[in-house]
Amino acid sequence: MKLVFLGPPGAGKGTQAKLLAKSKGLAHISTGDMLREAVAAGTEVGRKAQDIMNSGQLVPDDIILKLISERTAKPDCKAGFILDGFPRNVAQAEALQMMLQKEGGNGKNLDQVLYFEISEGELMKRLENRRQSEGRIDDDSETQRRRISIYEEQTAPLIDYYRSQGVLKKINSLGSVEEIQDRVVKAIQ
Ligand code: AMP
Repeated sequence: MKLVFLGPPGAGKGTQAKLLAKSKGLAHISTGDMLREAVAAGTEVGRKAQDIMNSGQLVPDDIILKLISERTAKPDCKAGFILDGFPRNVAQAEALQMMLQKEGGNGKNLDQVLYFEISEGELMKRLENRRQSEGRIDDDSETQRRRISIYEEQTAPLIDYYRSQGVLKKINSLGSVEEIQDRVVKAIQ
């Protein structure tokens, strides 16, 4: 099973991706986590990404696509994976499609894209909570606003992109972690 979890920062998709990956034996691939690890390890990718991430902008596609193609080639991805935070724009989605078609050889693309829907008011509330509890450096209020506007400009067009491919399912992101988990499990059945 190959899934994409799509939605604005703070919609709860990371939490749900972790839970579903564990229960279904899928690999959880978070490009944000991979980049943060690279920054912490001081690799070349980390050095290139650090300032861009702190400013709330998107890291260049070539860096991200290399990370994804290396990661999806690992053995734990054989049974399938959940992409969390990737693709972030149409160019990345097109590159992903080409990558999957090449690998599978059977023209099979993504099984489903779950879109975590949430109002802007709720989103700002959650990001503020996250900033206070995790102290994420990229979550100060100005950066938050920039991340959301970049999401609107570059990532939100993927909703129509995947809807037109007939793979999009909406998940109401209001409720407890367990309630949302139930919706996710039903959506992929
Ligand atoms: P996230 O944890 O998914 O919110 O990602 C944190 C930051 O990492 C983002 O604000 C971007 O700077 C960068 N990032 C993560 N995934 C991507 C991606 N697919 N494309 C470009 N930049 C990304």
